[in-house]
Amino acid sequence: METLLLKDKDIEKAASIIKKGGLVAFPTETVYGLGADALNPEAVASIFAAKNRPADNPLIVHVASVDEIEKLVFNIPKKAKILMECFWPGPCSLVFRKKEIIPAITTAGLDTVVIRMPDNEIALELIRKSGVPIAAPSANTSGKPSPTTAAHVMHDMVGRIDAVLEGGCCQKGIESTVIEVSTEVPMVLRLGSLSVEDIEKCIGKVEIATETSEVKSPGMKYRHYAPDAKLILVEGDENAVDEKIKELSLKYKGSMTLKREDVAPEKLFAVLRKIETAIVICPSVPEIGLGKAVMDRLRRAASERIVLE
Ligand code: AMP
Ligand code: MG
Repeated sequence: METLLLKDKDIEKAASIIKKGGLVAFPTETVYGLGADALNPEAVASIFAAKNRPADNPLIVHVASVDEIEKLVFNIPKKAKILMECFWPGPCSLVFRKKEIIPAITTAGLDTVVIRMPDNEIALELIRKSGVPIAAPSANTSGKPSPTTAAHVMHDMVGRIDAVLEGGCCQKGIESTVIEVSTEVPMVLRLGSLSVEDIEKCIGKVEIATETSEVKSPGMKYRHYAPDAKLILVEGDENAVDEKIKELSLKYKGSMTLKREDVAPEKLFAVLRKIETAIVICPSVPEIGLGKAVMDRLRRAASERIVLE
């Protein structure tokens, strides 16, 4: 299939593709999403096929207004209301109990659905003009770094989807934070562009889900964000890490070493996509603010972790 490259003046065209059950990649403030009508099971099936995404990894549904979610979910917990007031539109994805109207394939058979309102005018206009909620995972091949430019999307998806709507570089660069508020203590199921500190300022203490947590983000069990190179992540105190990296770069001749500023959230995925050496060595960053999400992504991208005492 031919993949059209559309500009923002072509949103109408992009919306008509979505209405007809097609696939359109579009910019958001986090990463580019691969969108289809969330209420159309065949359209949603083609997202999974284009990305080669495992069928048990549910999708996030995108809306353009708070009113739209009433027909999609049963009740809106109080803490969800507070988070929506504080952070919508924005990278705050919330778990709700879903209504029948959302097909099982969209949520991988779960009785919950994750919904967010993106903070990007092109994305919002596309949702409004399509007249339906849009299911959209990141627009990359499953397992690869997420796309933060239209060129990244084209690289992975050309010939596999109907269109890419261009919208420059994504300003945040890391996916949304997924939050479950129906548990006694709210739980962050996936770290992302909204920091834990900002969430806690708004609703108090939250927990961060681990591999063993009872309530989990089903998708987090898969290998993610893997660059083509072997990535060695060196974690620990800054000076000790720098020493270890010197030693490793002598050992692995022809390897490349990343600097801490290379893995700033807005650059991380573009940098992982650009690596041309067989081995890349990367230092850890402090796990405060968005550093938590950066370290989560780096650990999932790494082939080897060296954790210094
Ligand atoms: P992506 O589409 O690549 O941004 O990933 C979406 C993330 O949201 C994955 O980690 C999913 O596991 C998570 N997710 C989507 N729907 C649900 C749900 N109903 N319950 C828990 N996590 C979900
Ligand atoms: Mg993804």
